[in-house]
Amino acid sequence: MNYDGYFARALAQLQDEGNYRVFADLERHRGNFPQATSHCGQTRDVTIWCSNDYLGMGQHPDVLSAMHEALDKVGAGAGGTRNISGTTHHHVLLEAELADLHNKEAALLFTSGYVSNWAALGTLAARIPDCLVLSDALNHASMIEGIRHSKAERQIWRHNDLAHLEELLAAQPLERAKLIAFESVYSMDGDIAPIAEICDLAEKYNAMTYLDEVHAVGLYGPRGGGIAEREGLMDRVTVIEGTLGKAYGVMGGYIAASVDLCDFVRSFASGFIFTTALPPAVAAGAAASIRHLKASAAERASQKEKVAEVRARLDAIGIPHIDNPSHIIPVMVGDPVKCKYLSDILMRDYGIYIQPINYPTVPKGTERLRITPSPVHSDADIDCLVGALETLWTQCQLARLPMAAQ
Ligand SMILES: *Cc1c(COP(=O)(O)O)cnc(C)c1O
Repeated sequence: MNYDGYFARALAQLQDEGNYRVFADLERHRGNFPQATSHCGQTRDVTIWCSNDYLGMGQHPDVLSAMHEALDKVGAGAGGTRNISGTTHHHVLLEAELADLHNKEAALLFTSGYVSNWAALGTLAARIPDCLVLSDALNHASMIEGIRHSKAERQIWRHNDLAHLEELLAAQPLERAKLIAFESVYSMDGDIAPIAEICDLAEKYNAMTYLDEVHAVGLYGPRGGGIAEREGLMDRVTVIEGTLGKAYGVMGGYIAASVDLCDFVRSFASGFIFTTALPPAVAAGAAASIRHLKASAAERASQKEKVAEVRARLDAIGIPHIDNPSHIIPVMVGDPVKCKYLSDILMRDYGIYIQPINYPTVPKGTERLRITPSPVHSDADIDCLVGALETLWTQCQLARLPMAAQ
């Protein structure tokens, strides 16, 4: 077999479909984010419009000083797995901060949100005898991989479809173990799950619930505890999973749940046990970010305003975007080649960076530009974005919606 020939052909096919991924080589400007220097071809300044550092916490002075302080005090790496010398005081404090955030007995830290889903779902579903996993059709890859790895039986319910979920639950014996896995804010469409109703079904049919709040923690609820906090549901959800890498602006993932459940995952999850703990400075930065967003609602309020403003400006010029109740604005293009082209021209001619979102991240025919306004985008940034999209929509002869009444 010609191995390299095989790789090259597979890549060429991706290129032909417009689905080949090209990284943007960026250098963020601390103190001036969302501005960054792009090193793609010619070096130039760009405005980032697709970051998951939703609130700009990656450059918050509290976060940076906590990280500097920890780095200077205890050094760079954790030096081991959590079990073998890698549990530092910063990890312990962060887990306490997380348990408090979600009003749970305990929390358990992982090296990323991906690993937390993979390890926690994989371990729970594999080890609970005859566990049936009921997984929302649009769950994130990390949840799907965890469930697959567990080898437990899995049934997929249609996205946010309570009737379908109930049909599947009702078909099972009441005493059989069941785990309902779902997200709160779905990151590509920006829609939100009916958490209360899912908890009702879980109680009726004796199931556990596992909620991924990755795109909600820091952003929703009076203390940034997510949609479940906003809706007063944290105590009804068995496991809340989140990331420290998106709104909290640092890195890491976690679950928050009962003491016994966290201890169970801690004791049996390979993806927790056999990997070096996060650097203590990272844990310190994440804890500072969580603490700040527990006390301050200013970032959340400002983000809301910017999101509403961008939506209204897009409506005024008929640019189609999914109307959803979250902070995510998916501008629909519906063609992978055009989507990539738009993104390239935005970067080249306008210094605007929005990564095209194509298959397999979203279904074919729903290719989009996923825009995430933040408190650190200025009015001038918004003017520039809307002006550029208006010009390009005409140039590329993309469909517009009827203009909103002026
Ligand atoms: C990004 C993401 C994750 C993974 O979190 P990381 O900390 O980036 O590894 C998990 N779930 C969802 C829904 C995500 O979008």
